Amino acid sequence: MKKNVAFMLCLLSSFSTISVKAQEKEVSIAVDTLAQNVYMLTGQGGNIGVYIGETHVFMIDDQFDRLSEKLKTAISSLTDKPIAFLFNTHMHGDHSGGNARFNSETVTLVAQDNVRERIQLNLLPKVEAKEMSAEDYTKMLPEVTFSQDITFYDGEETIMAFHVHKAHTDGDAMVYFMQNNVLHMGDTYFSERYPYIDLKSGGSIDGFINAQKKALMIINDDTQIIPGHGRRSNKAELQSYVLMLENIKTKIQAQIDAGATLAEVMANASLTENSTGFMNAERLREIIYTSLKK
Ligand SMILES: [Zn+2]
Repeated sequence: MKKNVAFMLCLLSSFSTISVKAQEKEVSIAVDTLAQNVYMLTGQGGNIGVYIGETHVFMIDDQFDRLSEKLKTAISSLTDKPIAFLFNTHMHGDHSGGNARFNSETVTLVAQDNVRERIQLNLLPKVEAKEMSAEDYTKMLPEVTFSQDITFYDGEETIMAFHVHKAHTDGDAMVYFMQNNVLHMGDTYFSERYPYIDLKSGGSIDGFINAQKKALMIINDDTQIIPGHGRRSNKAELQSYVLMLENIKTKIQAQIDAGATLAEVMANASLTENSTGFMNAERLREIIYTSLKK
């Protein structure tokens, strides 16, 4: 059941449509040390990366706004240095929902171009419906955007962020800490569970697989991976995950070539039978079929 929660949260990616049950649940923030200066924070929603630099903190993703105070407390238990950059791996509300709570005169929000556009599209109706203030709306938006990649330099550390095309959405970016050898993959990787691919926001199965292959070209056997959801991971696990997805994709493409309908593919459990331990197999078959048919 636990595996379903993150999947559902990602699915319910609008900024307010989280179930009442999830809100009532007491959330605690777990801190995982991945490298000398990089930590992974887990609460509810997407996994957060925290890099403690020479003078400032570089943060990746921020879950939901109701968790912001808890997240700030968790970060202040690691360091008293202030946050300088907050990077959004993509636009979903379980990764960027706390933007306004973290944004300040000294914090700069950074994301790929399409993230800003999609957050605007999602939130403007809420401002018009007076569910969100104009001030919060402005603070939710990335202030620096880039089309392909952007690099940050901090002492010995080089932080490379790069866009991957039409993967989980059309605005995904991964962040690689070269010295600490940690890669945050955002939702282009769900460790130990099937991925959710947001086709309506520009994602695709081919782009998703290509994004993972790009990550594999950059990392090595010692790299720590922060996935968008699920526990920390590594290159060997990502390699077998890509093979698993390619295998399922090949089987579904063969079904499409043979004239199978969406309903038939969704009902055909044999297409995903070798990846036991994963949930929402039917939903994955639906996503891959629909993506390949586009
Ligand atoms: Zn997502």
